[in-house]
Amino acid sequence: MEMPTGKILIVDDDKLIMNLLSGMLDEDYDVICADNSLEGLRLARQEQIDLVLLDINMPIFDGQKLCQTLKGDPETKDIPIIFITALVSAEDETKGLEAGAADYIAKPINKSVVLARVKIQIEAKQQREYLEKLSTTDPLTGVPNRRCFDETLEREWRRCQRSEKPLSLLVLDIDCFKLYNDCYGHLAGDSCLIKVAQLLTGALSRGGDLLARIGGEEFVALLPDTPFESLDVVADRFRTTIEEAAIPHERSPISEVVTISVGGSTLIPNQKVEPVELHRRADEQLYVAKEKGRNHYSLGVG
Ligand SMILES: [Mg+2]
Repeated sequence: MEMPTGKILIVDDDKLIMNLLSGMLDEDYDVICADNSLEGLRLARQEQIDLVLLDINMPIFDGQKLCQTLKGDPETKDIPIIFITALVSAEDETKGLEAGAADYIAKPINKSVVLARVKIQIEAKQQREYLEKLSTTDPLTGVPNRRCFDETLEREWRRCQRSEKPLSLLVLDIDCFKLYNDCYGHLAGDSCLIKVAQLLTGALSRGGDLLARIGGEEFVALLPDTPFESLDVVADRFRTTIEEAAIPHERSPISEVVTISVGGSTLIPNQKVEPVELHRRADEQLYVAKEKGRNHYSLGVG
């Protein structure tokens, strides 16, 4: 039986059971253990866990409570949980499943049952993650797509609203890209888009920033906690990065190389405005940048 890789957290106050389970799994998986629910909660939040094997009867708070806590936290809700238990009544099993458990393993523990059930849950989680990644990635350039941008904008909007931090957005497109395609063909056009996406992604310096492709030759960069004063540094870096890459564009009336126009805006999110307002304002500034003759950036503060 071929095993997927993954990190498993075992939470059980019975050291014998903990060691027994750990011994069954540590050949195929990365296994960490906690002998109480508090430590289990800490590890589940801190480590990148793919599966939790959870005892029900434990001091401090029991496995059902820990399961509910993990399922109620956006950071840990997607980690599958299997209860390891001597309790096998239909009522207890139902309670556990209702608390969000993915499965049960009954004591006494049997190695092949444990391995089979663990494998099912880990594979299912990896499959879900793969599909999630596919649905939020632009297939041509490999950068996040429109859907990912829309979801991230909503999330960062709420987060910056709570913390009263500014949220900045740059929108940009490749100047005269239709002429580029007409001149070099659509395959070369695709290569140009891939190159531009890579360069823009590389020009972002912080982990929380998001570069996404949202249309044909249109990209956005969402910059949380970025004040208006810092926005022109990024906008200028984008513009110069693309220009200095010196991708030939002989048909462009702007330059001999591929260039971009950039518009940007900053808002401190509040309840009176919708996230789309930030996008609308940045779009207005993109229009201004094009009016300036393209290969420019223009920024407006909200
Ligand atoms: Mg116990």
